[in-house]
Amino acid sequence: MMGRFVRPILVILLWLAVSVQSVTAQTYPQDRDPYVNDYADLLTPTQEQEIAAKLADLRKNRDIEMTVLTITRRSDYGQTVTNEAFATNLFNSWGIGDRNRNDGVLFLVSRQDRDMRIEIGSGYGRTKDDALKKIIDRVIIPKFRLNTYDAGIIEGVDHTIREIAGVWPDQYNANQLTRWWTDLRIWAGGFIFAIFVPIGGLIWRAYHAAKRRAPRRCPVDGSWMPRVLDEYEHKHLTTGQQKEEDLHSVEYDVWICRQCDHVTIKGKKRWITSQKLCKGCGYKTLESEGSIVTEAPTRYSSGESRTDFQCNHCKERYSVFKVLPKISDNNSSGGGFSGGGGGSSSGGGASGSW
Ligand SMILES: [Zn+2]
Ligand SMILES: [Zn+2]
Repeated sequence: MMGRFVRPILVILLWLAVSVQSVTAQTYPQDRDPYVNDYADLLTPTQEQEIAAKLADLRKNRDIEMTVLTITRRSDYGQTVTNEAFATNLFNSWGIGDRNRNDGVLFLVSRQDRDMRIEIGSGYGRTKDDALKKIIDRVIIPKFRLNTYDAGIIEGVDHTIREIAGVWPDQYNANQLTRWWTDLRIWAGGFIFAIFVPIGGLIWRAYHAAKRRAPRRCPVDGSWMPRVLDEYEHKHLTTGQQKEEDLHSVEYDVWICRQCDHVTIKGKKRWITSQKLCKGCGYKTLESEGSIVTEAPTRYSSGESRTDFQCNHCKERYSVFKVLPKISDNNSSGGGFSGGGGGSSSGGGASGSW
């Protein structure tokens, strides 16, 4: 008789376990949009677009990710933590900002909790906290107290951009003229550089070529050795040296002593050459036959590429294997921040309540 009740009781216990868990589970609002997620509906669609345009401008001009989030209350997400802890955790969960610079900004308003926070990435340290606190106390909170949330958010965002980027949202190009002047000077400097450096280089090269080809003293009897003409010098070179000359990887000069037939050979490595040093014969006659990816890297594992070389002189072959790093997540695409992997905050910023 009791067996009939066991199964319903088990089902009820299971249901309780599941529902208790779903009540206590802590979640975060979704980052549906990279700029504005107005879940508390404090802004009109037009206002959302205006703010999003300013935040897109900030990203375009300063490469800084800033995002606005309004929620009704934290407890809707099973969150019992403070405004500050919620903001930091959410910031890091979304991964706002560049992961190396940690320069993201979160503008968070929690309507029913009657508090707000501007959370910033750890890259700012504590340098912006005081200024952001002033913006919250003097610009935003007075508007929120009058129930004009939209004005508080819009002006607050403007002031925050001013603090973070150093200019008001529509002022990125205000210093355009100064920038043009600076660009012009840099360009003019580069132009002068581009003309005089090659001329200097040519003179330097001609001087050194003449010096290099000048007669040398014979180390045996001290008499002057003339340089052997290019068309006859190959007789004195090894096959490997001849190959280097043919491939233009090393340029050789040869001097011969008329008194004792002593031969001096000097090689000058060319700077620009595709030939590499061969481990087999020791000549600069090793040529790449191209690279292929033998194993493509993924987001989870590294890959491998192989470059094949063959020596033009001794015909030896080599393969060089190279590890290709994992593909890193790029969090700038998609709807929001695609969670983690982005910038992080260590609790910098400022809060206020009304
Ligand atoms: Zn000699
Ligand atoms: Zn070789």
